[in-house]
Amino acid sequence: MKLDTSHMRYLTNEDFQVLSAVERGSINHEVVPTSLIHQLSGLRSLSGTNRSIGDLAKLKLVSKLRNAKYDGYRLTYNGIDYMALKTMLNRDSLYSVGNTIGVGKESDIYKVSDKNGVEKVMKIHRLGRTSFHTVRNNRDYLRKNSKNGANWMFLSKLAAAKEYQFMSLLHSRGFRVPEPFDHSRHIIIMELIKGFPMTRLRKHQNVPKLYSDLMKFILELGNSGLIHCDFNEFNIMIKDKLDGSDPNDTGFIVIDFPQCISIQHQDASFYFQRDVDCIRRFFKKKMKYEPKTDSTLLDTDGFGDGYKYPYPDFERDVKRQDNLDELLQASGYTKKHPGDRDLEDAVQGMRDAEYHSSDEEEDAEIPEGYDSDADEYYDSEEYDNEDSEEESDEGAEEEENERIIEAL
Ligand code: ADP
Ligand code: MG
Repeated sequence: MKLDTSHMRYLTNEDFQVLSAVERGSINHEVVPTSLIHQLSGLRSLSGTNRSIGDLAKLKLVSKLRNAKYDGYRLTYNGIDYMALKTMLNRDSLYSVGNTIGVGKESDIYKVSDKNGVEKVMKIHRLGRTSFHTVRNNRDYLRKNSKNGANWMFLSKLAAAKEYQFMSLLHSRGFRVPEPFDHSRHIIIMELIKGFPMTRLRKHQNVPKLYSDLMKFILELGNSGLIHCDFNEFNIMIKDKLDGSDPNDTGFIVIDFPQCISIQHQDASFYFQRDVDCIRRFFKKKMKYEPKTDSTLLDTDGFGDGYKYPYPDFERDVKRQDNLDELLQASGYTKKHPGDRDLEDAVQGMRDAEYHSSDEEEDAEIPEGYDSDADEYYDSEEYDNEDSEEESDEGAEEEENERIIEAL
């Protein structure tokens, strides 16, 4: 889904109050009755509320729904985008929205700037995106199991909140993850990693150390109580340039955390091993690097800090040293938040389906939706030229977004 900010400048304060009322009313109502919207908005005249509702509906920030008993409105994705952007604009963590830099399976990623002109990344969670091929199964699951039907917006908010909490704690503990800056509803603002996903990597100054560092990351995360569960070349960024201050720095940063689980999860061992295998497979196939399986090897990379075994094993190697899972109430550990279970099932269901279906394909490492031509393309030297052409196309849109947000 595209981020549509083009209507923002037309909204009045009253419109905003009414939109906010629809959002609050949605907590308990799938369809928010007009009388409740009016009551929550705090506006004096009902005709004022109705006028705003009409304007918001025209701009597709709310949509009209009928149910058996009454007519009412619900917030659309445009509406919730607007609410989140407005909140972050008010907090000064966001100033302008730029180009899309990535479209994930369950998210849209934009380059944004704060008011000091510092570039950052905005990740908008969009669970239930129809282009994703397993979505139908998961929708059915949610329809059957969730009280209010398939509430993708609720799950997107939950996914963003979870990701923000995980990133905040992991970053504060020195894990190599982007610094998170702000979070509202289904949107996160974080550090921009100037680099590229590892899937495009074919050369690196120290392949064995990069491999070893990644395995150590999985292990240290496990020792802290957590498993990433989607640890693969698409969710590892490699920095373009290293600052040179640490000659041992292999330049990787791990992203994408909504599906993390606790090491106390019943399938912890399976997911841990799958993370390890993804890295192992990538290095073997694309980097032509496969360390020996000899478990007597004490140091695989010759740097003295390498992991003892080439392939970490959950049962043998994970030794709890910290309880980040308990701090985060990661799924598999607590049922305190009722939505966690749905989130876990929805997100994990998508990931698993993807692994499963790609296993059946010839080239098991390229998930559905990933453009394998693009991979070739990034390796070629033409990439830079094409990229700048695309940028000039999107330049106008970027300017428009900037202008709109400044006008708010
Ligand atoms: P999804 O959950 O949809 O897979 P990701 O968090 O993996 O979303 O992000 C999708 C893509 O966006 C990544 O593969 C990467 O190219 C880009 N991206 C995400 N976060 C950042 C970041 N902090 N800095 C730079 N690029 C990023
Ligand atoms: Mg990802």
